[in-house]
Amino acid sequence: PLVLGVESTCDETGVALVRGHELLVDVTASSMDQHARYGGIIPEIASRAHLESFLPTLESALEKAGVELSEVDAIACSAGPGLIGSLTVGNCAAKSLASALGKPLYGLNHVVGHLAVDQLVHGEFPERFVGLVVSGGHSNLLLVNDIATDIVELGGTLDDAAGEAFDKVGRLLGLPYPGGPHVDRLSQQGNPEAIKFPRGLSRPKDLKEHPYDFSFSGLKTAVARYIETLQKQGEELPVEDICAAFSEAVNDSLTSKAIAACQAHDVKTIVIGGGFSANSRLRSLLDERASAAGIEVRMPPLKYCTDNGAQIAALGSNLVAAGLAPSDWDFAPDSSMPLTETYIPGNRS
Ligand code: ATP
Ligand code: MG
Ligand code: FE
Repeated sequence: PLVLGVESTCDETGVALVRGHELLVDVTASSMDQHARYGGIIPEIASRAHLESFLPTLESALEKAGVELSEVDAIACSAGPGLIGSLTVGNCAAKSLASALGKPLYGLNHVVGHLAVDQLVHGEFPERFVGLVVSGGHSNLLLVNDIATDIVELGGTLDDAAGEAFDKVGRLLGLPYPGGPHVDRLSQQGNPEAIKFPRGLSRPKDLKEHPYDFSFSGLKTAVARYIETLQKQGEELPVEDICAAFSEAVNDSLTSKAIAACQAHDVKTIVIGGGFSANSRLRSLLDERASAAGIEVRMPPLKYCTDNGAQIAALGSNLVAAGLAPSDWDFAPDSSMPLTETYIPGNRS
């Protein structure tokens, strides 16, 4: 079946077409340029940008793939978690299309989509895997028994998400928004051992109570204090070293807990996803530690890490293949959709 995916949780309008695990086309429009000068996403601007971008993005995708709308068998859209205004625009567009075409509609989980997209590049998932979803809003470890129907949440961040922490450190260093990619780039020129920053939830007691949870706010505060102290003394900031040491602390926590989750659940594969999964140190450190532990890591190419329509079409394709009932026409977007819910289930069959 040919599945059309529509992404609209935040600032990216994405439209993609997937058949099975084959990606036909993936087109993304972003309103990030309009938000950058405010240092954060402005929801009203994002919603309006979806309204303006949806039809051109859809037309461009159909044209590039040489596909007519009438050939589409099912429509999938992100139903949450995300900004309610952005979701509403994308969901209305997807509902209109599904209703006009008389095709089933699936309102699905954007964050689970961040993992699903990997199948378009590396093929069918193994029977079970540990998913590490790291993005601007999430840092979670998931035990995925079936990407369409059976996800267990092992843990997540108690405060900031990894991408969010990078963006905040970027702001402290005066880097453009979003800071994540800039901090990553600068960290590659620095010495990760130059400064000792704390690892959240890593003491024995924390490891017992929060084996798969993360905390990055203490680390962020430590970075802020370090910067303040040097500035007060009128010293120049070792920006590259700060980025490298900070990045090492975040990625040490993420990778050690991901490996521990595999070992505790007898799982041999880790799949990563989400905007932060583009991080260079996450990728190298996870690769290193996983191969030492005999665990395979699947990492989507960088272009599929940040938000896109392909992740939605990919997950939609899994739901269709599993024979699940579509969402009902009156489903509402869920800005805080739980990660254990792959989509908004319908009652029809
Ligand atoms: P969610 O998926 O939880 O709803 P989101 O969709 O807003 O959140 P994404 O678009 O998946 O998040 O990811 C964006 C985040 O990824 C930003 O915080 C950005 O700074 C971060 N990011 C992107 N590339 C890198 C990188 N190379 N290193 C660190 N962070 C990065
Ligand atoms: Mg984004
Ligand atoms: Fe995302």
